[in-house]
Amino acid sequence: MTPAELIARKRYGGEHPATEISSLVRMAMDGSMADYQVSAWLMAVTLRGMTTAEATELAFAMRDSGRVLGPDELPQPSVDKHSTGGVGDKTTLVVAPIVVSAGAHMLKMSGRGLGHTGGTIDKLESVPGLRTDLALEDALEQARRCGLAIVCQTPELAPADGRLYALRDVTATVDSIPLIAASIMSKKLAAGARTILLDVKVGRGALLRSLDESRALARLMVGIGQAAGARTEAALTPMDEPLGTAVGNALEVAEAVRTLTGRGEVDQRFRELCLLLAAHALAAAGLATSPVEAYRLAEDRLLSGAAAECFRQMLEAQGGDPRVIEDTDRLPSTGLVHRVRCDRGGLVEAIDALAIGRAAGALGAARQRNGQSIDPAVGIVLHARRGDPVSSGDPLADLHVRREADGEHVAEAVRAAFVVSPMAPAPRPAILELIR
Ligand code: URA
Repeated sequence: MTPAELIARKRYGGEHPATEISSLVRMAMDGSMADYQVSAWLMAVTLRGMTTAEATELAFAMRDSGRVLGPDELPQPSVDKHSTGGVGDKTTLVVAPIVVSAGAHMLKMSGRGLGHTGGTIDKLESVPGLRTDLALEDALEQARRCGLAIVCQTPELAPADGRLYALRDVTATVDSIPLIAASIMSKKLAAGARTILLDVKVGRGALLRSLDESRALARLMVGIGQAAGARTEAALTPMDEPLGTAVGNALEVAEAVRTLTGRGEVDQRFRELCLLLAAHALAAAGLATSPVEAYRLAEDRLLSGAAAECFRQMLEAQGGDPRVIEDTDRLPSTGLVHRVRCDRGGLVEAIDALAIGRAAGALGAARQRNGQSIDPAVGIVLHARRGDPVSSGDPLADLHVRREADGEHVAEAVRAAFVVSPMAPAPRPAILELIR
């Protein structure tokens, strides 16, 4: 079939057989399908959708566009974890060391932040000296030796995703559920883990806002992972308010370190989410026989210091200053804080994650365009959390800024992100649904 015929098939709502999808990905990669034709097809998919079989074939064809790591390239059990991203989402920095210190191996390819959501790579790079641009062989060697490596995506794995994503980014075709599922799963499957835990965020600060959409994405990704023979589970977790208290790269690493070591202030809801996600990964990987045993194992890894030691070893292996584990003051800091105070009394009913993410971005913590530089030290630390009682004049948040004027510029948006009312918000579970 010619590119125009493939585009027409999708434009009229038809279903591609597997051979058409693999030849489409091949043509996109060898240049026989031009950018404008790939873009037209992406738009047709966005408008017409894909069946589960089509999305699965797309994920497989994208996986097979580069090197695919085999199950013997990492010691077993091998686990991967992926979050669809949110505001203050530093769970990988806690969950990965727990899971690895409990006996798994993890080679995790992570992304940079874009828009209001942060990226694990930007967070890690705030650790002085730390490198994330490891060659695939070096990352594999590190994961074999010390259990854990968290590195940038390499073009060696699923290069077709890089090609398609660059076009989606500029053609308003990012938020198509089958394209997102194929994009994420092609990279996870190429990286070879036998167990994959997906954290699919739901709410205003998430990639997809509604529970129905997030559930559809989770189901599709779990189906793709299982079709490839990987034990795959997805947790739907809330992203209406920021996760934990810190939003901003070095501030989030400091919060992850406090959670790992138990030293300093620890947000118990964030800690609990990390333990639950780690427990699901451990049970899925066969490192525990029941959910209760898996949770106890995860908690033991935190309390014994084993998870913190695993993170320290990973930082050191990647050239980062391991002393940040003992002393988070070694992380970059602006040294200037602008405090935002409450202007009324009541209960914090909600904290708008999107508004907080945008405010942190405006301070310099996130990039609006690919390739922009970011400031690792700036960000926001929340003092009041959902459900807390507050009075007029109480601190709501500290803005870590480079200039006082930057703080004044976003202070009102941060104050407005806190919905203070006489009503206590309904309690919400850390995990809304588990899909397996
Ligand atoms: N993350 C990805 O890796 N791909 C998408 O399409 C969306 C989010």
